[in-house]
Amino acid sequence: MELKKCIRCGCFFTTEDNLCPNCQKRDDNDKKYLKSFIETNGAPSSVQELSFQSGLSLYDINRYLKESEFSGIKKSISMSSNQAAHLDDQLSRMNKKENL
Ligand SMILES: [Zn+2]
Repeated sequence: MELKKCIRCGCFFTTEDNLCPNCQKRDDNDKKYLKSFIETNGAPSSVQELSFQSGLSLYDINRYLKESEFSGIKKSISMSSNQAAHLDDQLSRMNKKENL
């Protein structure tokens, strides 16, 4: 059987998945944690912020967000980051007016 390299810990294993059995359990726990974290705290303005606040690595969060079960969360993060960008835009316009 072909050996596969785990995308999370880098160990070698022999199933058809991208994750070794240990990391599958860790991923399951992290995903549950991430969902309840966002339910409790709301979606942060960026993935970086989410990583910082939740303590999960950026690499893992980006991996989870690619999965369909996280598509709603991904949308709410990009929505709030758009709003943040919009706010920045408004602020810079206001600043320009003040300078004129
Ligand atoms: Zn692993």
